[in-house]
Amino acid sequence: MKKTQLNRRRWLALGLVLVCFSLLAGLLLRLVLFRGAIREADPGVFLDRIVDIHCHTAGIGAAGSGCFVSDAMRASYKFRVYLESFGTDLATLNAAGDSIVIQRIAERVEASQYVDAAIVLAMDGVINDEGGLDREATEFFVPNEFVLQETDRYPQLFWAASINPKRTDAVERLSWAYANGAKLIKWLPSVQLFDPSDYSFLPFYQKMAELNLPLLSHAGQERSFTHARDEFADPLKLKLALDAGVTVIVAHIASTGEHDGERDTDRLAKMMTKYPRLYSEISSLTQINKLAYLSEALLDERFSERLFYGSDYPLINTALVSPWYFSLNLEWKVMNRLAAIENPWDRDIELKQALGVPQEIFGRASRLLMNPEDFQFLEP
Ligand SMILES: [Zn+2]
Repeated sequence: MKKTQLNRRRWLALGLVLVCFSLLAGLLLRLVLFRGAIREADPGVFLDRIVDIHCHTAGIGAAGSGCFVSDAMRASYKFRVYLESFGTDLATLNAAGDSIVIQRIAERVEASQYVDAAIVLAMDGVINDEGGLDREATEFFVPNEFVLQETDRYPQLFWAASINPKRTDAVERLSWAYANGAKLIKWLPSVQLFDPSDYSFLPFYQKMAELNLPLLSHAGQERSFTHARDEFADPLKLKLALDAGVTVIVAHIASTGEHDGERDTDRLAKMMTKYPRLYSEISSLTQINKLAYLSEALLDERFSERLFYGSDYPLINTALVSPWYFSLNLEWKVMNRLAAIENPWDRDIELKQALGVPQEIFGRASRLLMNPEDFQFLEP
């Protein structure tokens, strides 16, 4: 009895010494490696309206929304994390309906002191060879009609349609989305399982160009779902859309993937010099798995004048993002202050601003997406 007590004390003491040692080492390392903000922070007032172009919603089909998530996703730990980050839970969803998720978004945007509006994204599914929805293969589905109907209730919310171009009626859906005020078309090819470089999509791209409807497409590795086919996420596959005259916004500088032994971000950066209608955005670049990418986005010349602000809500409201991950860029008191901000959008804006995201990035969406007629594209 006495012997085990003694042993336990020894282990405890050893553990304590180790913790103190690593804390001390961490502090010393930080002193040596601290490098400050990525760029000098643009202080003060925002001149343009801030529009978040990358905001997700989701649902389980409660109150007939038409949304669903697969059984695999429901069984994953991610499901509970996502519900929590949306500010809801299963019981609330079942009682109030899926519209509560968009209501929470509206309330949080309304309460934000910086963000004026958000574009809420629908999410199409996998399309089978007959051109209809493959429910079994679809992990996460948010119908256009639902997002349109629910965002319509709030002046601070806009919507983006999601249309898998493999649908038989894809072009008609495009015209419908445009007529109903969609600001963007949102794609996740590696999860919706189609190849954006497929020539049969050309009429779809031509219609998008004619309607001046921009495409927000994911590129780079995708790990928010239980499976993804990364070969469809190569940014080079978007050349067909660009050549057809579509304005393409590649999500989060194509971070974390690679194709043909080259990083997707490098592939995208090279494309920037060729295509004046090619853009990207900074959503998710403050996530713990992407810490170096924000620096790249802000410091690589090829991305300058090409970046939009996006949050990837609700991911900004999970443990994936925290000011504390930037201890080599931010002072303690700044991290402390940012971590205490309750509104997820205000926390996101202030964190990005402190890291050096310039004003022009925050303001770009209000110019391109809200006043498309006035927007000047760059010369190639
Ligand atoms: Zn996203």
